Amino acid sequence: MRELVIDLDAIEANLNTYRKMAPGAKIMAVVKANAYGHGLYEVALKLDRAKVDYFGVADVDEALHLREGGLETPILAWLHDPNDMFTEALEANVELSVANLEQLERVADAARLTGKVGRIHLKVDTGLSRNGSSIEEWPALVTAVVGLCDEQLLECVGVFSHLSSTAEPDDRAQIALFDQAVETAKLLGLDFELRHLTASDGTISYPDANYEMVRIGVGLYGLSPFVDRAAAEFGLRPAMTARALVTQTKRVQADVGISYGYLARTTKETTLALVPIGYAEGLPRNASGKAEVSIKGKRYKIESRIAMDQFVIDVGDDDVVAGDEVVIFGDPAAGVPSADELAVAADTINYEIVTRMGGRFFSTFLGAVD
Ligand SMILES: *Cc1c(COP(=O)(O)O)cnc(C)c1O
Repeated sequence: MRELVIDLDAIEANLNTYRKMAPGAKIMAVVKANAYGHGLYEVALKLDRAKVDYFGVADVDEALHLREGGLETPILAWLHDPNDMFTEALEANVELSVANLEQLERVADAARLTGKVGRIHLKVDTGLSRNGSSIEEWPALVTAVVGLCDEQLLECVGVFSHLSSTAEPDDRAQIALFDQAVETAKLLGLDFELRHLTASDGTISYPDANYEMVRIGVGLYGLSPFVDRAAAEFGLRPAMTARALVTQTKRVQADVGISYGYLARTTKETTLALVPIGYAEGLPRNASGKAEVSIKGKRYKIESRIAMDQFVIDVGDDDVVAGDEVVIFGDPAAGVPSADELAVAADTINYEIVTRMGGRFFSTFLGAVD
């Protein structure tokens, strides 16, 4: 009745598109937040078989989930629970981002406890003001890491940072600071293989800053990382289609109020179709009166209030019956609304649209591997 169709072959094709856009760089597939709503394990398994170089996740728990599923590709986790002792992460060969001395000590303690070398990526804050060491603390952090590497408790795999994607001069200033931080780290004797900075947008905008690895999230799912440029411009294909079946239709007279608050009223005798998707599935309530859906190739606006479980559309005198397929969003090349269009209707970005899809949607995977 409610289905998310996830085209894993599109995700693999998007990986290959990014491989061509960042020749010579390793690719970290960012699969945090249930692979942006697409299904963590299924997506990761497909990418693992496509020989992606790395997985990137926010939480250690997401990484452990992939290891429990038997995936052996390197994984980096970068957003830490302040109480995590990191022993499970080290036992499972999960690489950890380190942003300050306190986190560094916890990883070193975990290495002492488990007898495993802690593989870390040092994160420097070059201007996003989120995760990462400040530039001021950076030399002291690097020096402490060099000491723990000498003791063979740790191995520093990489140095990384993340752009704010504000405007080119801001990003260029971050790139320059990143290069300086790398230089400082080398002067202080830090040995590491990988520098990584750019995500789906920066990989395209600043190919000179792709270094040894790029971290690709939204682009892998076939969505554009830019609000003003379509994914198709880069040869990317959306992997997620959200659809449902009309559960009921009804013929009503003119001047009938529709759904909560009567945002819409019929102006003539017409047919109403009930669609079993609501904000519990992640369809934003504030897209009421703005978003469009597609039935048999024709667009209909959701004029009335989106509720928790359902919404109603006015299909006029069109031949729409219970059981007809309603596409909420999918690949615009197929003539259906895109996640970008729904994002505009809901005053947000495509990232949020796909990531929030869930609730009672059932996922079907095309091109799944076993
Ligand atoms: C989410 C995230 C990414 C991926 O960003 P996209 O714009 O989706 O490619 C990369 N790096 C970090 C640190 C992130 O948090």
